[in-house]
Amino acid sequence: MAPKLQRPSHVFMSGKLVPWDDANIAIYSEALIRAASVFEGIKGYWDVEAETFSLLAPRQHFDRLHRSARLMHLPFTMSYEQFIGSCTQLSEVLLVQGRDLWLRPTLLAVEGHWGLDTVTDLVITAYTLAQERPQPIAVGLSSWQRAGDRAQPARIKSSANYQVGRLARIEGRRSGYEEMILFNSRGRVAEATGACVVMVRDGRVITPPPYEDCLESITVDIIETLCGSLNIPFDRRPIEFTELAIADEACLAGTLAELVPVTSIDSMPLGGKSPVLDRIADAFWDTVRSAQTVPGIEMVPIIGAGAPR
Ligand code: PMP
Repeated sequence: MAPKLQRPSHVFMSGKLVPWDDANIAIYSEALIRAASVFEGIKGYWDVEAETFSLLAPRQHFDRLHRSARLMHLPFTMSYEQFIGSCTQLSEVLLVQGRDLWLRPTLLAVEGHWGLDTVTDLVITAYTLAQERPQPIAVGLSSWQRAGDRAQPARIKSSANYQVGRLARIEGRRSGYEEMILFNSRGRVAEATGACVVMVRDGRVITPPPYEDCLESITVDIIETLCGSLNIPFDRRPIEFTELAIADEACLAGTLAELVPVTSIDSMPLGGKSPVLDRIADAFWDTVRSAQTVPGIEMVPIIGAGAPR
């Protein structure tokens, strides 16, 4: 069963904290009527021992939000410092010690008409999460397709891109799948509805590049960095369906998903063992949990002992 959406006490909206029930937008806004909005998902990790709450790769998320906003012609003028300050303000009221947070900054077109005189607002919602490693899942194949770069650019994180993901999830639920893999218009693997696809073949980690119509993923960049530190070969190249079907190992990778091992694809079981992806997932876990620093992967403390005063 799909988890029920949490309704936290507050939302960050129009530059301040607002009670959840008061966080509304106008029915005529282009965010609603033309899906003119872009967003990010940022994970915040609570380090129990250090009593510190840190965001993983917030600069990368901020930069991607800027790129998404630019492509969608949504004005976004907030500085990085203001952005971190806004995430901190909301985290301070919603953080539950011993749990993590997933923050969803969304830039909404609240005024304007067909891209003229657009006014935006950055709204941040956040939801608590248990500190658990993701369980392996079986994934299905969707008959829905990722649109191409000139139709619906997948490299940015626009809300409109999630229409097809929603359809794919509805389709998958009928067969008992919570996640589905989408192909691109060339019939090759694009990504899942909320994560990228990563596979292993002959000891090499392989993932489709954004020109295969997937998001420019921050988690995939982190995996690439971890592969570098673990001496595991890492390639970005197109993946055909049959290559994925006979992969030695596979996982879904994303900020919220982290690294979810895939047990089967459309009822076809994979090898059952994932020595390469387990090493990477262990290194990922160590990095985000015990603040074990890996050059190129940034954990930014915002609350607690390690946060700047
Ligand atoms: N693809 C889609 C469609 C996603 O929603 C996500 C999650 N943001 C990803 C890929 C993975 O991106 P990231 O690693 O930046 O979270």
